[in-house]
Amino acid sequence: MSSVVLDKVTKVYPGGHLAVDRMSLRAEDGEFLVLLGPSGCGKSTLLRMIAGLEEITEGDLWLDGQISNHLAPRDRDVAMVFQNGALYPHRTVRGNMAFPLEIAKADPAMVRERVTELSKALHIDETLDRRPGTLSGGQRQRVAMGRAIVRQPKIFLMDEPLSNLDAGMRTELRMEISSLVRSLGVTTIYVTHDQVEALTLADRIAIMNRGVLQDVGTPGQIYNDPATAFVAAFLSSQQLNLLSATVRTPQNQHVLLDFGPHQLVIPWSDPRAYAVSQHTGRQIIIGIRPDGLAPVQESYDGPSFFGRVRTLEYHGHEWLAYVECGAPAVAVPEPPDPRLAASGRTESGGLRAMVRRMFAPAEQQHEDQEQVGQNPGSGHHRRADLIVRLGGRPAWRPAMPVKVGVDVARLMLFTTDGARIDPPRR
Ligand code: ADP
Repeated sequence: MSSVVLDKVTKVYPGGHLAVDRMSLRAEDGEFLVLLGPSGCGKSTLLRMIAGLEEITEGDLWLDGQISNHLAPRDRDVAMVFQNGALYPHRTVRGNMAFPLEIAKADPAMVRERVTELSKALHIDETLDRRPGTLSGGQRQRVAMGRAIVRQPKIFLMDEPLSNLDAGMRTELRMEISSLVRSLGVTTIYVTHDQVEALTLADRIAIMNRGVLQDVGTPGQIYNDPATAFVAAFLSSQQLNLLSATVRTPQNQHVLLDFGPHQLVIPWSDPRAYAVSQHTGRQIIIGIRPDGLAPVQESYDGPSFFGRVRTLEYHGHEWLAYVECGAPAVAVPEPPDPRLAASGRTESGGLRAMVRRMFAPAEQQHEDQEQVGQNPGSGHHRRADLIVRLGGRPAWRPAMPVKVGVDVARLMLFTTDGARIDPPRR
């Protein structure tokens, strides 16, 4: 077992492409750490630098208390499993799993015993004499995992090992990876872009965007108390509502979030009130998950929005309502891409244009979105509707005027560049 420490690790690929930007992170001895982020954010590059497959441009990598930047991969005692779980096609399952021990000239009786034992734990003991070509995708990935772990490495690195599998197999293997790795107690760093995988598997999650670490904490900490708007949006299973509001402190009675047609009060007794009041007169961004909103009666006089149901969406286990409420929606704020800045190019007309679009009225945002050709599913949400989670069979119907109760304790408060206003508790 071993700890992994990254100290301001940076990777610039030949040609000047900045893939990882001063990442500092620690995986404790025996910890299951998940690196989460959208495709292209630098997760695999980071993992490959830990494995020694990619050179570190700047910063230090410490394995088990030793600076290891220049250690050869074979001297790091690290095993890696990739997305496609490439196996030796002419060796049987047993031959594939035994290979790392045979190379290390281990005692053949011990090899046999270890492979048999591990194949049982991975539920592939029935396939030991078969060749990889005759196995299902899930079985091949189990063999790849067995081969990586058979020599009991100090560090286990997994790069999207489940992403080529169908949904059912993914869930099954996810549970097995979790119990196997935990029973072995090997320090594991697991890369994925899937927030469900991250939340279900991790002891802690490190979430990256554009080569930069955004947040790190237990799944509960970063889900409930995210450091940035990007993290909050990325971890939401349904789209996160992000609205722009102006902060006011009328007669110093309380803090008021002014959404134009709607206002919400944050009383001084709320631990976030002081931090928000520092933004009086300025715009901030409010994040609300759809399950932080609920239908209320017309007579309800607690914190609420009002609007008209545009449409209802059935999701099997829940309904979502899209409510037109006239509050200004904003896109997920992202820092300018350092990789574009380095190359002198700008992104969709530059940062200033991006901020202008972010705070344009929602109709304008839709136009801009079409102009720049962004995919609404890519994280740049631009819509004026409030998404509300409805339990069971909804009483709401399209075009109905409705009142939406707001759980003020669950509002997430961010500056216009997406940083949390009230610091997360870590
Ligand atoms: P992720 O694993 O999060 O999808 P990667 O680490 O694979 O991201 O890639 C991060 C960025 O570095 C991407 O923009 C990718 O195109 C770029 N990249 C990856 N490998 C190379 C390489 N060998 N040369 C140049 N750029 C690369």
